[in-house]
Amino acid sequence: SVEASVPESQREAWRKFSAKEFKTTEEFEAEVVRHIETTLARSLFNCDEAAAYAGTALALRDRLIIEWNRTQQQQTFADPKRVYYLSLEFLMGRALDNAILNVGMKDVAEKGLAELGFRMEDVISQERDAALGNGGLGRLAACFLDSLATLNYPAWGYALRYRYGIFRQEIVDGYQVEVPDYWLDFNPWEFPRHDVTVDIQFYGSVRKYRDDSGKQISVWENGEIVKAVAYDAPIPGYGTRTTNNLRLWSSKASHGEFDFTKFNAGEYEASVADQQRAETISAVLYPNDSLDRGKELRLKQQYFWCAASLFDIVRRFKKSKKAWKEFPNQVAIQLNDTHPTLAIPELMRILLDLEGLEWDEAWQITQMTFGYTNHTVMPEALEKWSVPLVQHLLPRHLQLIYDINFQFLQFVERSFPKEREMLGRVSIIEESEPKRVRMAYLAVIGSHKVNGVAELHSDLVRTTIFKDFVRIYGPDKFTNVTNGITPRRWLHQANPRLSALIASKLGGHEFLRDLNLLHKIEAYVDDKEFRKEFQAIKFANKKRLADYTKEVQGITVDPHSLFDIQVKRIHEYKRQQLNIFGVIHRYLELKEMSPEDRKKVQPRVSFFGGKAAPGYWMAKMVIHLINQVGKVVNNDKDIGDLLKVVFLEDYNVSKAEIITPASDISEHISTAGTEASGTSNMKFVLNGGLIIGTCDGANIEITREVGEDNIFLFGNLSEDVDDLRHHHFYGDFQLDPSLKRVFDTIRSGTFGDSGPFTGLVDSIVDHGDYYLVSDDFKSYIDTQKLIDEAYKDQDAWLTKTITAVSRMGFFSSDRCIDEYAEMIWNVEPLPPPKENGA
Ligand code: PLP
Repeated sequence: SVEASVPESQREAWRKFSAKEFKTTEEFEAEVVRHIETTLARSLFNCDEAAAYAGTALALRDRLIIEWNRTQQQQTFADPKRVYYLSLEFLMGRALDNAILNVGMKDVAEKGLAELGFRMEDVISQERDAALGNGGLGRLAACFLDSLATLNYPAWGYALRYRYGIFRQEIVDGYQVEVPDYWLDFNPWEFPRHDVTVDIQFYGSVRKYRDDSGKQISVWENGEIVKAVAYDAPIPGYGTRTTNNLRLWSSKASHGEFDFTKFNAGEYEASVADQQRAETISAVLYPNDSLDRGKELRLKQQYFWCAASLFDIVRRFKKSKKAWKEFPNQVAIQLNDTHPTLAIPELMRILLDLEGLEWDEAWQITQMTFGYTNHTVMPEALEKWSVPLVQHLLPRHLQLIYDINFQFLQFVERSFPKEREMLGRVSIIEESEPKRVRMAYLAVIGSHKVNGVAELHSDLVRTTIFKDFVRIYGPDKFTNVTNGITPRRWLHQANPRLSALIASKLGGHEFLRDLNLLHKIEAYVDDKEFRKEFQAIKFANKKRLADYTKEVQGITVDPHSLFDIQVKRIHEYKRQQLNIFGVIHRYLELKEMSPEDRKKVQPRVSFFGGKAAPGYWMAKMVIHLINQVGKVVNNDKDIGDLLKVVFLEDYNVSKAEIITPASDISEHISTAGTEASGTSNMKFVLNGGLIIGTCDGANIEITREVGEDNIFLFGNLSEDVDDLRHHHFYGDFQLDPSLKRVFDTIRSGTFGDSGPFTGLVDSIVDHGDYYLVSDDFKSYIDTQKLIDEAYKDQDAWLTKTITAVSRMGFFSSDRCIDEYAEMIWNVEPLPPPKENGA
């Protein structure tokens, strides 16, 4: 029962003038020119590439919005169960190229732009990245949106509309400097919905009373209200008309712009203070990756976003006038990490306080609705909020959390009467000073399924942090969905020539929708022509990165060298320090060699890239060391092209699209048991590069798929990590001799003042080497030697890379989404109607 704004008798004019999508090159050009002239007020005399980008984006946006409207209308009429993906981060990157691809307009746009005097590549590269995320977790959410739309699932993403996304990284004197990224200067992809707003309450107090029937009622009152305003971004599926929605909330003062009473009384600053305080909530993305900092503003962000999203979801559900018990049959909410866990008590608050349901029914609905994805087992990343802080900011939610905990602990006590000590272990409240709310426990207790993101990680989830919960709920509540990546962006868009080569053999681009079809290219592994083109593509991609490196970093590298790449957030557990120590070791060995011996060496370029959290000193010193080593090595005449070290500034999604296809080897070398999955590992292999990696995260499943011969594994296994750490702790620590030489070289000042690197070296030599750099060092450098040797046999190397690519079908995010849909969400696709018009 959907009410229309216009009565049936008057719909003729609407139908006649309803927006039409452009199809031909001519129609596309007409739209671009119209936008450049009328929306942007430019003309053919002052249309630069930026304006051409804006005109093209606006034309495509119109096109997307027609499909978006149609999808939303269809979903409103059909009212199927929907998926809501709650993620504080969506690392979307650029939208234009993807939009052109997904609506099937590549040729039209390329030809149209050429006729208007522009090269498509130049136009596309004008776009600023939408960088509303830190790293893997946010990029996963972005890949999932692409797959959800492509597979026609009725799905929404919910996040915050940060005014500042992740900072831009500049390198000054070898140090990271953070610069704000004001990405909203021009963002054609969002639609402000000033009519879709939600009032969000903070602070205040809870009043309890009994109504006439004796039922206890809780009222949360006297709080401060902030307004959430919706901004929508269309998410087009590939090869389908389904266009889903990403809804971003922006914060605003609830009472308009500023306080006139104060302004008129001469209190100029106070008059805008409220407004500024409100707008601060959605101002910045917290730049920590895998680290919990416990800041009040972050908690405010989390509640603001959860409350606005739930209000919206509930409002949509209530339109259908179904009974509350139907809620979990209409709504699946996925919590991407613990960041949205407050949605659990918030839904309870809505059901109990606003809708008047009884506890048991409300709790059942809540548990059935939520699913929780865990992204880490590392203690420093597990969110815990101080009880006094939650009490102050969200007094009603704290009561609900205590009530949930009470019910849960009673259940545990009944189930395990002889294990009273378990109660303290599994309680949502940690008995620390101050007490803290363990968000991961709340998420587990409030969800019907909990998943890890790769097999090893899901095993660790079950056997370490949630071990007790597996006993309490049984093993079925815990499952695995190994991460994946969208082949549209990470193969077709990043590597169009490889995509074309594959398509030429498979008779079309169907593999972009069914990545398992890739296995058919294994039949061409001995095909001369295929091999030649495959190799030429890799070389061209390396050449492109070499040109980029020259242009942006001013460093000349030879694309015939082995390209060794490690790009990801800088973190001790990801062990960029192991890599750069390995580079120093290589440098020292080269220096010792005779000129004759040097001639036999495989030249190599070590590329690094990634941001360090601004407050993460150790990570920043790793960046500094890489840059200092580069300065010395790159200018050493003895070394020449045998070794180059490049730190690629400001790593982000659009740069990843250039960097990923250019690797021969990429490094995924985390301490075993620390990297939950990794997704860049999948991207590199899919683009014809091999991996040097530890037995960690998805590396293990990549090995299973591509075969042990086609990956270079090294290092200690996760089951041995605890023992090794234990030994280190009790003083049984042997510094690897080669690593000692590396440290001596650093200390001697070879790479400049060694002061900044003291902490880095000491963390290994004196402080227990928590990340097992020394334990894995020999195995690492030996494996790098193997790689040098293997690379010299270019024919065998090529066979490995082609074979690996053909076996990567499993890692499509389409497979993940189908697994989530079946195992966790219980939702079905809603394919768009065949013909125009809903
Ligand atoms: N950052 C960016 C910009 C990415 O594109 C990706 C993945 O492709 C990541 C971080 C995650 O990388 P990793 O899986 O190596 O941590």
